[in-house]
Amino acid sequence: MIEIKVLASSSAGNAYRVTDGQTELLLDAGLPIKDLRQKMNFELSSLAGVLISHSHKDHCKAVPDLLKVGTDCFMSQQTKEEGGYESHRVKILEPQKTIRIGTWTVLPFFLEHDVPNIGFLLATKDGDKLLYATDTYYCKYTFNGLTHIMIECNHSYDILQAKVEAGILPIDHKNRLIRSHFSLENVKKFLQANDLSRVQEVWLIHLSSANSDAERFKREIQEVTGKLVMIVG
Ligand SMILES: [Zn+2]
Ligand SMILES: [Zn+2]
Repeated sequence: MIEIKVLASSSAGNAYRVTDGQTELLLDAGLPIKDLRQKMNFELSSLAGVLISHSHKDHCKAVPDLLKVGTDCFMSQQTKEEGGYESHRVKILEPQKTIRIGTWTVLPFFLEHDVPNIGFLLATKDGDKLLYATDTYYCKYTFNGLTHIMIECNHSYDILQAKVEAGILPIDHKNRLIRSHFSLENVKKFLQANDLSRVQEVWLIHLSSANSDAERFKREIQEVTGKLVMIVG
């Protein structure tokens, strides 16, 4: 059984604690380590590893300190180079190549963003499957048999457009957002393209503080999927 705990979820910092009951992992570590420690009740040592999606600070701020205290941090070669990490605790993930971490099987895959970014498909021994995809405007892959989905739902086109028309959002900022982050509209399309028959929970993560509407996003995703939708931010 998969359990998800959100420690932080926004452009100010992202970190999610997940467990299958045996092996505990952290998905992204975009917080100062002292905040991370506190939010984890000082149980950092219970982590079997930390999976890092990309080099933006809201996803990897704690990495240098996590490496220092001996935590394995899994990331792409590009993210390692971007961060300048030199430690045997850095474990390189190759997209489309499955690895085992404790009782989890992890498949990393490329996501479209403004820097190299990866998502993760995490499978437990008893066949539960968690998808984690953030900081992307598009995911070209589809997945079967997912039971848990954690997906960015950053903004919606109509909120952005209304702000552009009101003169409070520069058009190039809008264009940058829609080419780097997942909109409500694209999340719906993505979810509809996937096999949702086994899905138990959909978590909407990384909402923009300025360009989202949590209650509306939750309601609309619930309508499209017929699933339990959890929202953070
Ligand atoms: Zn981010
Ligand atoms: Zn990013």
